[in-house]
Amino acid sequence: MLRRPIEERFWEKVDKTEGCWIWKASRNSSGYGQLSTERGKGPVLAHRLSWLIHFGEIPKNRKVLQTCRNLICVRPDHLRLSPSGGSVKEKLNDYTVVRPSGCIEWVGATAHGYGNINLGGNKWRLAHRVAWELEHGPVQDGLWVLHSCDNPLCVNVEHLFLGTHDDNMEDMVSKGRSRKGVEHHNARLCDQDVCDIRYRHAAGENRQKIAADYGIAPGYVNKIVRREVWAHVE
Ligand SMILES: [Zn+2]
Ligand SMILES: [Zn+2]
Repeated sequence: MLRRPIEERFWEKVDKTEGCWIWKASRNSSGYGQLSTERGKGPVLAHRLSWLIHFGEIPKNRKVLQTCRNLICVRPDHLRLSPSGGSVKEKLNDYTVVRPSGCIEWVGATAHGYGNINLGGNKWRLAHRVAWELEHGPVQDGLWVLHSCDNPLCVNVEHLFLGTHDDNMEDMVSKGRSRKGVEHHNARLCDQDVCDIRYRHAAGENRQKIAADYGIAPGYVNKIVRREVWAHVE
C-alpha cells in the first residue's frame, strides 16, 4: 500500500506556535524530530524535511541549523544552511546569528553552555575564545575571555574582554545578584571548581596542569569532564 505523501504527513505533526513550529511526533536519540519514510529507508529529520519542503534540495555535506536552538522546531525562518569547510572566520559567520541585543550568537554545537567550534578533525575550541583570538591574537596563559553581555554563546568581540579566573568568579557573583538567574548562578558557585575544571578543559587546557591546580589526579579531571563524577553539576 502506498503511503500518503510525506508532505501531508509532515504538516499533521506540526504545531505552529507564535514562535517556533513544534514537531509533535517522534524524536531521534539526539532530540531532533523525525518522520518515517518508505519501508526499508530510515527516518528523515523533521527540520531537514521542512527545509526540503520550503526551500528545496539540501546541498551535499551541509547541515540545516535551527537558529532558535530548539531541536524540534521546523519553522522555515528559524532554519538556515551551514556551509561546511571554509576558514575559521567563515565558520564563525556561518554558525552565528545577530540578535537584537547586538550579541552575535553561536548556533552550532556547544560545550558547557559555550559555543564549540570545530577546527577540523577532532579539534574543538570554545567559539568565543577563537573569535577573540582572531581579533587580538592568542590569549595569554592564565587569562580568560569573559562576556560583558553575560551571554555565553556570544562571539561578538565587542562583548568580550580578558580577565583572570578570579574576575570570572566575581563577574558571575555580581551578575548572579543582579539577574533573575540568582539561584542558578549561586548553584554554580557552590560547585564552582567543577565548573572551572570543565570550562578549562573545554578551553583546551592541559589536564595535568588543571589537575595540579586543584591537587587532584589527572584521571579525576577526566572523570569530572566525562561527568562520571559530579554529574549533578551543570
Ligand atoms: Zn524555532
Ligand atoms: Zn553579546
